[in-house]
Amino acid sequence: MSCQPIDQYATQIPREKRAAVYQGTKATHEKRTKLLFDQFADPNRLRRLAGEIKQHTIENLDTYLPQVEAKLKANGVNVHWAGNAESACKAVLDIMQARGATKIVKAKTMVSEEIELAPFLEKHGMEALETDLGEFIVQIDHDHPSHIVRPIIHKSRAEIARSFEREGLGAYNDDPETITRRARQFLRHKYLSADVGMTGGNFVSAESGRIAVVTNEGNSRFCLAATKCHIAVIGIEKIVPRDRDLAVFLNLLARSATAQELTTYTEFIRGPKSPEQPDGPEEMHVIFVDNGRSEVLASECREILRCIRCGACLNVCPIYRQVSGHAYRSVYPGPVGAVLSPLLMGEKFPQKADLPKASSLCGACNEVCPVNIPIPDLLLRLRNRAKEENVPSVGTPPMGGWSILASQPAAWRAALVGGKIMDFLPLRHIPVPPLSKWEAKRDLPPWRGGQFRKWMKQRQRPGA
Ligand code: SF4
Repeated sequence: MSCQPIDQYATQIPREKRAAVYQGTKATHEKRTKLLFDQFADPNRLRRLAGEIKQHTIENLDTYLPQVEAKLKANGVNVHWAGNAESACKAVLDIMQARGATKIVKAKTMVSEEIELAPFLEKHGMEALETDLGEFIVQIDHDHPSHIVRPIIHKSRAEIARSFEREGLGAYNDDPETITRRARQFLRHKYLSADVGMTGGNFVSAESGRIAVVTNEGNSRFCLAATKCHIAVIGIEKIVPRDRDLAVFLNLLARSATAQELTTYTEFIRGPKSPEQPDGPEEMHVIFVDNGRSEVLASECREILRCIRCGACLNVCPIYRQVSGHAYRSVYPGPVGAVLSPLLMGEKFPQKADLPKASSLCGACNEVCPVNIPIPDLLLRLRNRAKEENVPSVGTPPMGGWSILASQPAAWRAALVGGKIMDFLPLRHIPVPPLSKWEAKRDLPPWRGGQFRKWMKQRQRPGA
């Protein structure tokens, strides 16, 4: 049986990596649930409110985008619009070249990953340095992030220590404090010598033009402290209508992403520094990036544009926990990536049409999503789209046989007995190549078939 691309990744991920991803995501998910339910009588009300605000905003982007542009301009910010990745990268390059800049320090921005800005700038002779610790490690390893919030969830301390040693950042030492201190030492010098500082924007208020940026390392603040020019690269869906909405989203984002009450550093950036302010960038540019978002907005899956990139759906997803982030082949992994990535591909949708199928449709992602996105429904809509567009479905198990079995009670009962027998068979050694190949990379859980029928039979009928 040939495998779906995501399946191939699943078979290749080493067991210890899978275990690390599982432990990391499980712990964050449990902390998040406890925090939310300890602190809010009904967190679901807050999630519904946040979802409604975001849905309202994306459906009225034609009103809010001009409003935010006018506010930003009034605050002294230069506003640029980029329809695709190429024009967004070009806009950054033009700003840098106009200033004679060659060095840029970047705080974590997912959209700059999405448009592959760093390699583009490097190709044009610029030094583009990631300053979020995880992103910095990804950069020196020429790797890709595997989680929205924790880009190196797939790496062990030993691997990081070896990377630091290779890059000349000290002798091998896998003590986290030492690693952090060494990264800090290296980055401080870079902050001071950079010409341009780059951030993303977690939220942009249409009411005031304020950009909210959250980090846990304070690196976005460092990026802006000494540089004279600030460029913010932001997806067009990041708008919220009013300043007061920020309270709803900042509360939910920190709790959902890292189980914190508030992210350690939360900055509200209104524009370049005023003459009375001693420090800060004298020039500020905001580049609003579409890159397929308008098409997503026009599709039947537009709810995905509510996403605030908290990563909670990744942490709870049984599929993500098994395959880790690289399997999604995109900067957006997990359930959100399974919806967003194929949509952002536009006409190349078939290349990622396997992702919506990589889901158990258990609904856990929907339950945790702070903006209440009905991810399982969206996945089904995309599966349907793939069928309508006749996207070949490699690796899909033949369902015809299953449907015959499931509709014949006698055959079903026989299969339940067969399932029990399978527990005692050395499947890995049975000479049926697809079966032994499949089994070699997976651990089949013990057979539990028939439990439901047993429970149903024993159940007391009402009134009996
Ligand atoms: S889809 Fe929801 S849970 Fe997943 S990253 Fe986006 S906001 Fe968070």
